[in-house]
Amino acid sequence: MRLTDSHCHLDDSKFDSDREQVIERALAAGVERLMAIGTGDGPPDLETAVRLADRYPFIFATIGVHPHDASKAVPDIFVRLQELAAHPKVLAIGEIGLDYHYDFSPREVQRQVFERQLQIAADTGKPIVIHTREAWSDTIALLSGTGLPACRAPRGIMHCFTGDEQQAREALDLGFHLGFGGVLTFPKADALRQAARITPDDRLLVETDCPYLAPVPHRGKRNEPAFVVETVRRLADLRGRTPEEIAALTTHNFERLCGLPISP
Ligand SMILES: [Zn+2]
Ligand SMILES: [Zn+2]
Repeated sequence: MRLTDSHCHLDDSKFDSDREQVIERALAAGVERLMAIGTGDGPPDLETAVRLADRYPFIFATIGVHPHDASKAVPDIFVRLQELAAHPKVLAIGEIGLDYHYDFSPREVQRQVFERQLQIAADTGKPIVIHTREAWSDTIALLSGTGLPACRAPRGIMHCFTGDEQQAREALDLGFHLGFGGVLTFPKADALRQAARITPDDRLLVETDCPYLAPVPHRGKRNEPAFVVETVRRLADLRGRTPEEIAALTTHNFERLCGLPISP
């Protein structure tokens, strides 16, 4: 199986004691490519994922300000994001979006920082990685109301998608890919599994969001990229395909979305 984990927080302190082994286990499990999310603890450090990507050829990076940290985004931060977007291993801007569950930053500030980063994505031609929690309608409204021409409209990934069929259709209609993670394997996630069934082949992605949200049978433990295979197996089951087919198509989707060469 040739897997891609499209969303992992490898910089997290929960990996400090054994990061090398975690990465080795990912490779041994067939995870050939990882996208490290670079939001870290928020500004001023914007390079937590870039540092990892500089060390390992198969790790790629995002840059961005998480909605939790929106209050820390002083104007200089946006200048630096724009510069960092030119780094050859930076594939996307993210995770960006809105989180009304925790409200760690005021909602109005979250919306402004999200919009500013949508602009950076449009200016640099990068896809975006969206984090949205209890803020679905505002997220969709901001994504569809950018006023940008179609060729510069936002495109990217709804990361850790946990919505139902209706929300899946809204995101798909906007041209987004859906990133499915460990929640897909949870017993109560029937509405999400229905959303996964109706997602077209060419919009499917898999992720761990590690160290969070470990799939069954690792649920409750620290998550790691090697576990992405559990989500792939579940998706294969739901869609009447083999895990190898799901692994290949999610890898190809990731490559196409992020402008990487398509692997054989
Ligand atoms: Zn997130
Ligand atoms: Zn994340």
